[in-house]
Amino acid sequence: MTKVIIVGAGIGGLTAAIGLRRAGLEVKLYEQRTDPRMIESGGGMVLQPNAMRGFQQLGVADQVAAAGSVLERFEWCTPKGNRLAGWPVGEVARKVGAPMVGIRRMKLQGALTGAIEDGALELGAEVTGFSEDAGGVTVQLAGGAEERGDLLIGADGINSTVRSLSLGPWTEPRYAGYALWFGITEVDGSAADPTFRELDGPGARFISFPVGGREVYWSAIANAAEGTIAEGGGAEIEGDKEMLLRRHAGWAPPTESLLEATDPSVIYRREIADRDPIKKWGAGRVTLLGDAAHAMTINLGQGACQAIEDGVVLTNCLAAEDDPIAALRSYEVKRIARTAPVVRRSRMIGEMGQWTNPLACRVRNQIQRVVFPTVAFREFKQTMAYEFPPAPEPVSPRVSRPASG
Ligand SMILES: Cc1cc2nc3c(=O)[nH]c(=O)nc-3n(C[C@H](O)[C@H](O)[C@H](O)COP(=O)(O)OP(=O)(O)OC[C@H]3O[C@@H](n4cnc5c(N)ncnc54)[C@H](O)[C@@H]3O)c2cc1C
Repeated sequence: MTKVIIVGAGIGGLTAAIGLRRAGLEVKLYEQRTDPRMIESGGGMVLQPNAMRGFQQLGVADQVAAAGSVLERFEWCTPKGNRLAGWPVGEVARKVGAPMVGIRRMKLQGALTGAIEDGALELGAEVTGFSEDAGGVTVQLAGGAEERGDLLIGADGINSTVRSLSLGPWTEPRYAGYALWFGITEVDGSAADPTFRELDGPGARFISFPVGGREVYWSAIANAAEGTIAEGGGAEIEGDKEMLLRRHAGWAPPTESLLEATDPSVIYRREIADRDPIKKWGAGRVTLLGDAAHAMTINLGQGACQAIEDGVVLTNCLAAEDDPIAALRSYEVKRIARTAPVVRRSRMIGEMGQWTNPLACRVRNQIQRVVFPTVAFREFKQTMAYEFPPAPEPVSPRVSRPASG
């Protein structure tokens, strides 16, 4: 039986682990954090139908959808609330057979972690190195332990150790020129409006959508010089709420009411970065997955969705090929072609979002009015209808060997 070692229990690593175990492979998943739910604590995200279709193949879509809110509409407006464009995403979702879901990141991580029951996941385990030989790959852990497997998957995020060890040291990620403040609050009523709403102003944007029941996630994006917006949040950062209320004063509902209602101790912030697409993700028994392979900006809401697709495609390729190394190369060919344009498109949209010149912003509004309902909507529908390679028959999970050393 092929044994796969995965580094990183983010959304990508967890998805791959669930898929591979379901396909009957042995999996060992190492995560340096002691609680993977704490990644991006407090944040929310959108899981688009392409990702939810992947989760359907892995049998976890229902749990995930139940933990969030099903979204029906996307809407782009000016800061005053004049509508620029809208998409009936609920209709698209029904056509492709999977919902668009807004969800708390912690709940998603919890649902995925819960689907890996029997010791495959080892927490507080930092992978520091690996070596490969004709018979397999040996992974080194901080503290001196080692683990042997047949394949190694680096799902260890934008600053991937596996990537730097296998493809050569990386340079720092490319700072996108803007930062994001985010929080979650409850709204009145029985359930939040199932709309993803984005207000686009000069060099600043405000996004909101429900993430389960009456909870609404919001994010405020603005141009910022690199290194001026330290990552973090909560009690350490004072004054962010007042600054956001000043920046978005007079913006259309629900901007100010969401900011007002948010406890300042759950406002977080983060600078946005990506990497140029690369043409090689691995060699021999090693490959990459998720942000480690294709870190992208936030603008298409596809970073995690593509990581989920990666996990499903990797599973399907390994199940289809007798030679696991050939399966990794076949996975890479499929996924490099899929993800590189998404990275580029996401970057381009972010660059337009940074425009501050009033004339340029009027041109951008016009582009949104014309391009979003036509070309962009067509592209969106194509992205949602991504065709996965054929899925393997599920096999009952096997218990992993305990980590050696
Ligand atoms: C503000 C924000 C909003 C976003 N919104 C969306 C959205 O709405 N929709 C969407 O699809 N995407 C969104 N994204 C992108 C998405 O969050 C990422 O693309 C996704 O989380 C990447 O998952 P990953 O598993 O590849 O990497 P990560 O989530 O970075 O996970 C990597 C894991 O590896 C672990 N690790 C790292 N090094 C080691 C090591 N040496 N040993 C062991 N473990 C290690 C880390 O601790 C971490 O747990 C957003 C991103 C941001 C920043």
